[in-house]
Amino acid sequence: MPRVIDMAVQGCLSKMAAALPSRQNDQVVYHLRAGEHRIALNERIGEPLSLRWTGAIACTHCGRATKKSFAQGHCYPCFKRLAQCDTCIMKPETCHYFQGTCREPEWGERHCFQPHIVYLANSSGLKVGITRNTQMPTRWLDQGAIQALPILEVDTRQQSGFVEMLFKEQVADRTNWRAMLKGDVEVIDLNAERDRLFSLLANGLSQLRETHGVDSIRTLEAVPQHFHYPVSVFPKKVASHNFDKQPLVEGLLQGVKGQYLILDSGVINLRKFTGYEIQIS
Ligand SMILES: [Zn+2]
Repeated sequence: MPRVIDMAVQGCLSKMAAALPSRQNDQVVYHLRAGEHRIALNERIGEPLSLRWTGAIACTHCGRATKKSFAQGHCYPCFKRLAQCDTCIMKPETCHYFQGTCREPEWGERHCFQPHIVYLANSSGLKVGITRNTQMPTRWLDQGAIQALPILEVDTRQQSGFVEMLFKEQVADRTNWRAMLKGDVEVIDLNAERDRLFSLLANGLSQLRETHGVDSIRTLEAVPQHFHYPVSVFPKKVASHNFDKQPLVEGLLQGVKGQYLILDSGVINLRKFTGYEIQIS
């Protein structure tokens, strides 16, 4: 029976909601979010999807209209003013709270002076990353990781940055998004990688513990998690859509992975267009 076509909905894009399935080994459950609307995506795979940018962008923080989006959906004044848009968020080892120059010290205390996790993940191969422990597993799903293993817990975001810097001597901290989207990522023995890295980096880790306190960097005993994404066809060649260049993005939805929609006409990273006002049908 032909499916009843939904009416078009319109709203400003938020990051897609990605949730673990209720049963292990089932696929990650995605919802596209635009304004108040939540569109279940898993059940639309194999069907046509059309997204049209109206030309408007609203700042995700203050709601003001902005011609250009900064730091994934902010207007320029918010981008310059908010602690969450400061470069120390991307490079936590450069935290400058103790110099008294944090843009929003109270925000920093709530978000950065909280336990953080250092993890190993496999999105396009082995990588190291950090996240607040409340952001697991969202962080991994947003990266399109097929596996993840938390390995260390630290007291602050800055400490997680120091640990990550150390691990970057041995392992990547970036995802190759094209490789991630092509889907032929090989499974890695994350426990073995953790043990290998702990032994390679033993000196560096004990130095960090000396500096920050023996208990500040705690080894975790976790089990690797596996994630399965709702993708029916992985692209062989990865071409990407961009609302700034072509406001109409349409095609058959073939899958969702990370924050990307995979259409038969190309892929689109929706996170990049947070705040864009989109008509969806
Ligand atoms: Zn703003």
